[in-house]
Amino acid sequence: MNHTNTQLPNGADLNHQPISSYYGEFVFGPRAQKGYLTDAAIHEIAKAVNEGHAIDRSISDEVAKAMKQWAMDMGATHYTHWFQPLRGTTAEKHDSFFEPTGIDSGIEVFSGKALVQQEPDASSFPNGGIRNTFEARGYTAWDPSSPAFIIEKGGVRTLCIPTIFVSYTGEALDYKAPLLKTLAFVRKAATDVCQYFDTNVTDCSVSLGVEQEYFLVKEDLYHQRPDLMYTGRTLIGHVPAKGQQMEDHYFGAIPTNVQAFMNDFEQRAHRLGIPLRTRHNEVAPGQFECAPQFESLNLAVDHNTLLMDVMEAVAAEHGFRVLLHEKPYKGINGSGKHNNWSLITNTGVNLLSPGNSPEQNLQFLTFFINVIKAVHDHADLLRASIATAGNDHRLGANEAPPAIMSVFVGDKLEDVLNDFESDSTSPETKESRSSINIQSIPEILLDNTDRNRTSPFAFTGNKFEFRAVGSSDNCSSAMVVLNAIVANQLVEFKQRVDAAIAANPGKSKEEIIEEILRADLISAKRIIFGGNGYSQEWVEEAARRGLNNIKNSAEALAAYMAPESIELFTKHGIFSHKELEARTEIRYETFVLSLELELKVLSEMIQNFVIPSAVRYQSRISENVKNLLAVGIDKTTVSAQLELLTELSNLINQAHQLNKKLNDENEKALALKEAHERAVAFNHVIRPIFEELRVVSDGIERLCDDSEWTLPKYRELLTLS
Ligand code: ADP
Ligand code: MG
Repeated sequence: MNHTNTQLPNGADLNHQPISSYYGEFVFGPRAQKGYLTDAAIHEIAKAVNEGHAIDRSISDEVAKAMKQWAMDMGATHYTHWFQPLRGTTAEKHDSFFEPTGIDSGIEVFSGKALVQQEPDASSFPNGGIRNTFEARGYTAWDPSSPAFIIEKGGVRTLCIPTIFVSYTGEALDYKAPLLKTLAFVRKAATDVCQYFDTNVTDCSVSLGVEQEYFLVKEDLYHQRPDLMYTGRTLIGHVPAKGQQMEDHYFGAIPTNVQAFMNDFEQRAHRLGIPLRTRHNEVAPGQFECAPQFESLNLAVDHNTLLMDVMEAVAAEHGFRVLLHEKPYKGINGSGKHNNWSLITNTGVNLLSPGNSPEQNLQFLTFFINVIKAVHDHADLLRASIATAGNDHRLGANEAPPAIMSVFVGDKLEDVLNDFESDSTSPETKESRSSINIQSIPEILLDNTDRNRTSPFAFTGNKFEFRAVGSSDNCSSAMVVLNAIVANQLVEFKQRVDAAIAANPGKSKEEIIEEILRADLISAKRIIFGGNGYSQEWVEEAARRGLNNIKNSAEALAAYMAPESIELFTKHGIFSHKELEARTEIRYETFVLSLELELKVLSEMIQNFVIPSAVRYQSRISENVKNLLAVGIDKTTVSAQLELLTELSNLINQAHQLNKKLNDENEKALALKEAHERAVAFNHVIRPIFEELRVVSDGIERLCDDSEWTLPKYRELLTLS
């Protein structure tokens, strides 16, 4: 295949073709498989995908051969296992199909073994102490539930095979391996609970739709900002007065050059089978969002990680950089990644969609209340799952979902839950009700007026939307926790219902389910909140309710090693104690690493840009004063210049002192033995110095002549057209 990125094989321009004509072109999905595999093999792959199990080794050779032929027909010469290590987005190690057989001869080979498993040298990936250097090997193993695809970079095409990544001793070193475990766990747990309502249900799938927010910045300006280049966010920069007030940006016209970029990356994404549907401006200037149609969770996560890479690559071709950081600019809305999550049965029923009959509604209420209860019981763990240095700038910063975990259900469902709860306390209503008082649920379905954008975890008609996930994060870490806590809750719920049924032969199953749901609702309802999550009143109200407000990652991450989390993960075989410890360690290390990088860059910028700018400007003023005095002007008439000189001197001194303090504290923090101690020191001691330095630097920026201030300013960075 030799057509370009913007052309179809027949040479037609992609821009004028229906998306369906090239959708999934670079994916070894059912359509591509047809030309290369027997029906039996295709069926086997489809079964493995749907049922979430491994593909029989006996057909892996056949699949590998077919994949190789397809990839070669598409113009690929190399293949790679594609995986998601615990730092960075994705990792690859390319091998060629080509194998020399003589001095001037060779063949293209790709065996089933090479498809199924590889041993990349894993020593450069974070492992939290799991691997000693003498066993630096890690294994990647094929995940057939996510189709192979071809990535094109610099005109070179490579076959990518989605894999998990584990250590020599079997511990997970990536995001995908535990995600697959929790998927199996929640599918089974949900299917078991479905049996109370419909014995035809034999499986459930977990759906995910990821809304991705991002900023764009012009590439030439980006290259003039070391902070953006190395840390993804501006560490200094005076906020323009009306920056945030430009709210007409939201849903406004997309600038032409941005539109061209979006169109290009969407085409690239569509060819990779990423089902993007929506694009629009976001609240802040320079901020945008795209969203796909939801898919099965594992695929949605792979697609989101792949999408982030594609966006970055395509942006560069358009003279842009994508900023996926949660908070590129101070004083301007940050970016998140809304994770829309639901459970769907193999009979096609969305378990989080209220039905038309009381029975269906009891099933809905069962899953609805169990999710709420799971979030309530493991709120700190859920908070920990999204804890990163970047996300700390959003959560609890009075503009994004707060760090307090709460669930928004909407007024109507809150009424339904209140009625449901009070049923037990008023025997009169109990007599008169048909089954349960929830017939009116369908009315609320997808009621778009009943929206609350300030909640970290919101029910939106037929799904829960976990909005507190950071824009640069791999969704897996949040989804592993959400899947695990819901599955665990469903398992416990079922045990209690079964026990109660056995102990109360006179009671109906429905009555027992209602009673248990009611008890769970009562114990969890303090987590339900429908008001303004950004307000100070909520902070106070949440404290009264006993809900935690953990504002930084250094403290939030501790929830991973809380006894109830250890029990949750080890009991269900998701993480061993050792794995959990290692992963938590990696999270602390990553936190420290990103703050340390910020520290170095900030320190350098103060030294190499900010102070020199101030000094240069000072020299110009002094020169001016000297000249004025020399021509006989009275000293009192240059008082403004003299004041400015003093102000600048003060700021220069402060910048210098703070910079020294920053480096001293850095050394002290790095000398601490435990990763979590270092994280706490960076958060509690070093971050406040960042803030102080920023105030000083922004003061200098404000005073300086524009021509002496060499860094691009906010108003330039935020203008794209
Ligand atoms: P918004 O939240 O902006 O109103 P939508 O309601 O269109 O946007 O949905 C946002 C995302 O939620 C999309 O990716 C969509 O496919 C996804 N979504 C819709 N229904 C489900 C579902 N049942 N399970 C998971 N995701 C879903
Ligand atoms: Mg949304």
